[in-house]
Amino acid sequence: MPKIVTLPGDGIGPEVTAAAVAVLREVAPDVTIEEHLIGGVAYDTHGDPFPQVTRDALKDADAVLLGTVGGAQDSAWNLLPRHLRPESGLLALRKALGCYANLRPVRVQPGLEHLSPLKAELARGVDILIVRELLGGVYFDGDRKIDGDTAYNTMRYTTPEVERVARVAFWAAEQRKGRVTSVDKANVLEVSELWRRDVTALRDREYRGVHLNHEYVDSVAMLIVSDPSRYDVIVTENLFGDILSDLAAVIPGSLGLMPSASLGDGSGLFEPIHGSAPDIAGKGMANPAAAIMSAGMLLRHGLKRPEGANQIDRAVALALREHPTRDLGGKADTQTFTRAVLSALETSP
Ligand code: ATP
Ligand code: MG
Repeated sequence: MPKIVTLPGDGIGPEVTAAAVAVLREVAPDVTIEEHLIGGVAYDTHGDPFPQVTRDALKDADAVLLGTVGGAQDSAWNLLPRHLRPESGLLALRKALGCYANLRPVRVQPGLEHLSPLKAELARGVDILIVRELLGGVYFDGDRKIDGDTAYNTMRYTTPEVERVARVAFWAAEQRKGRVTSVDKANVLEVSELWRRDVTALRDREYRGVHLNHEYVDSVAMLIVSDPSRYDVIVTENLFGDILSDLAAVIPGSLGLMPSASLGDGSGLFEPIHGSAPDIAGKGMANPAAAIMSAGMLLRHGLKRPEGANQIDRAVALALREHPTRDLGGKADTQTFTRAVLSALETSP
């Protein structure tokens, strides 16, 4: 029986995680769900934002569903030394799981095109999955220095690092439209030459059914907003992915609609990309859609149960159309929205 650890965390985290758990129980009733503390609430209870009991619970977890971590600007937690603040619990969690691929779907929900900063005709039907390499490249390479008026960082990748993240992208593409765009800067960077060569070789060896093309990152930055429908899965290295995923995240038009997954060799981490939203915490008005869709990603990528994930995606799309939450210009509160998802699951499984 698969085991999931939930870490609801702070702010609206517990509210949106409760919604996601209710949906998981409906779609995957055989899964064991164990709840633990992280962030500010973990500090309050254990004096540690990533306590040992939580670390231990992760050891035999198949996947981790995270809420949100952090408090308001003026929260007492912000007066603590840095290593005891809620956010350092989050960093320690990410480090402990060692995830090398970050996945962010960028989907404009049918009926919510008006929320997008793009013109409705451009926004309609946008459905991109960005797969960003998370542990390598210029952010992590040890070869770095600042010395007087000179400084450098290095972007370095090895074939195994490229292959493991590309494999995630190809696997995902096989369940989508079967297209991968690999993004690099191979006209000027040797590291991109290697990236391009290895991604191509992997496709030729193991994923011949997937259509692969290569584009330069500067060109993608333009096309992702001027012609987003051209993309299915985008795979890229850490720095390019950091920038492109934030750029693309504005397309759906609300933070409350953005789930994410981080995958490694151990348990994956699934979380909404929005923060703890202290301004609305405890009021029952948070939009749980991103957390619920993160639970969908957990089923798809963490437990390899794509049918359950598809069920959730369909139910969320329907609930968003019929009961939009306040951040989307509607009236539904957290409970009403969650009930709408649950009843959509029952009526159209
Ligand atoms: P952090 O520093 O934790 O990332 P932040 O201030 O950058 O926090 P959020 O906490 O995500 O960002 O909040 C930004 C704004 O969006 C807030 O006004 C918040 O209320 C709103 N918001 C974020 N998530 C949701 C949600 N799920 N439902 C409704 N509103 C949300
Ligand atoms: Mg933020």
